Amino acid sequence: MSETPEPSEKTDFIREIIAKDIAEKTHDGAVITRFPPEPNGYLHIGHAKSICLNFGIAQEGSNRRCHLRFDDTNPTKEEQEYVDSIVEDIRWLGFDWGEHLYFASDYFDQLYAWAVHLIEAGKAYVEDLSADEIRAHRGSLTDPGKDSPYRDRAIPENLDLFARMRNGEFKDGEKVLRAKIDMAHPNLNMRDPVLYRILHQSHHRTGDKWCIYPIYDFAHGQSDAIEHITHSICTLEFENHRPLYDWFIENLPVPSRPRQYEFARLNLTYTIMSKRKLLQLVQEGHVHGWNDPRMPTLSGLRRRGFTPKAIRDFCTRVGVTKFNSVSDIALLEHSVKEDLNKCAPRVMAVLRPLKVVIENYPEDKSEELEAVNNPEDPEAGNRKIPFSRVLYLEQDDFMEDPPKKFFRLAPGREVRLRYAYFITCTEVVKDDDGNVVELRCTYDPATKGGDAPDGRKVKATLHWVSAGHALDTEVRLYDRLFTAENPDAAEEGKTFLDYLNPDSLEVLSGCKLEPSLKAAQPGDRVQFERLGYFCVDEQDFVPERPVFNRTVTLRDAWAKISGKKR
Ligand code: ATP
Ligand code: MG
Repeated sequence: MSETPEPSEKTDFIREIIAKDIAEKTHDGAVITRFPPEPNGYLHIGHAKSICLNFGIAQEGSNRRCHLRFDDTNPTKEEQEYVDSIVEDIRWLGFDWGEHLYFASDYFDQLYAWAVHLIEAGKAYVEDLSADEIRAHRGSLTDPGKDSPYRDRAIPENLDLFARMRNGEFKDGEKVLRAKIDMAHPNLNMRDPVLYRILHQSHHRTGDKWCIYPIYDFAHGQSDAIEHITHSICTLEFENHRPLYDWFIENLPVPSRPRQYEFARLNLTYTIMSKRKLLQLVQEGHVHGWNDPRMPTLSGLRRRGFTPKAIRDFCTRVGVTKFNSVSDIALLEHSVKEDLNKCAPRVMAVLRPLKVVIENYPEDKSEELEAVNNPEDPEAGNRKIPFSRVLYLEQDDFMEDPPKKFFRLAPGREVRLRYAYFITCTEVVKDDDGNVVELRCTYDPATKGGDAPDGRKVKATLHWVSAGHALDTEVRLYDRLFTAENPDAAEEGKTFLDYLNPDSLEVLSGCKLEPSLKAAQPGDRVQFERLGYFCVDEQDFVPERPVFNRTVTLRDAWAKISGKKR
């Protein structure tokens, strides 16, 4: 049973505002949110927080919906590949926008008309200063800015120049359109912000129709207004953009008046989330693509074996607040373990095999033993696993000269093989270098199923796989991508790349898995008993010989931290 309430039962300051707005019929009782990704990268776990919030709210009552709107105002970094991946990832998380898929680029004509509207009202002007000069004129938090010499251009001249910007008569950076607000405003965003820039660049949707593009701030609120968004929810860094957001809404003939609310973005230990840095990891080959299972992207987490439910549960647990904080990655790992514990079938897999010969078991015999698929799920039933004379055990489960607290197999010692028999190690076979290459054991036929009729006990139960039946395949052990809790806070002379974990991926070949796994399909999730949760890699899938990725080990750091015993 989950100890955390379902999203709809958990409230936060945004849901409280919404409840009040509904009660007061502020937007005629409607709630329309949106998730507005820029298609310049793949979605990551931080986006999931925003998706779960926006789409979650829309699911929590009638007269509500959530739009998916691509904020595609910067053609230099945007691509269709990203649009497609974003659509796929949000669907995978379990959310649906129905008919309401939009692109800011759909509104370019309207935004242009509104820019003209501002010029006509004497509230925007064409600027000839360069980007550097504009910056130099901007002032600082303590000093007011300086008016541009072009600020008082006549309206007809501005209209003419803006039309010529659109017609492609000027080069990139030669001119911009700025709002005429207040160069001494205490909020720097209000000091005549740029509205349009010249970019002779094809757009992934509008092609070569435009060579001027609106700045994000000029597109965002107006897009919200066009779509009749009621609650425009964004992260805290936009808090000081809100006066500008409101200024546009007040000074343009927009069809509705959305309101902006800000919440704290998700930060996670041992993780970076800047798309620029994630792109760098991909481009420089530190990982194998955006969906590398070590990436914090949704496609990476999916390939790693995370379930949509685990990610949604995690977002609920993290909650929505106005204060920036850092969440523990152990909580994310805990969320996936909790979900998989309920739904992942248990199987046996030996990752680093050590050959074992049961000397008193007949050579030509094999038998089928009964195994429980999932002790947490009575409906999951049983399966048969083959047992025979030659088996594999985990190398770690044997020590020739064991220290005191090692209770697993050792010379002369008896242990239980899960679902099978008690075995006793009688001989250790070594190669010329002294490495253990094989164990000779005997089994007690009276202990079939794993219990001794005479009541004698053993201190360990080991997993095993029958050698003649095993699936021989590759298993990839993934670990955290960074060794530092906050890779972004690099010491002097270092960058986040200096904290990459050299052991974040270990590829094991020749692993021996129980034969039922030959039928495993891409994305299937299982627990390898005693080792962790694993899933079939989607990308490198080979029928009959699936490759497995480790999602997480069974150690639960979060349960320890939070003092809960599992
Ligand atoms: P960048 O990495 O370039 O800053 P971004 O993370 O802002 O980009 P967008 O595509 O603009 O990427 O984000 C879409 C939405 O997701 C925005 O509303 C943004 O506030 C939200 N979002 C992005 N990162 C996080 C995060 N870490 N936590 C919560 N919400 C986030
Ligand atoms: Mg952004």
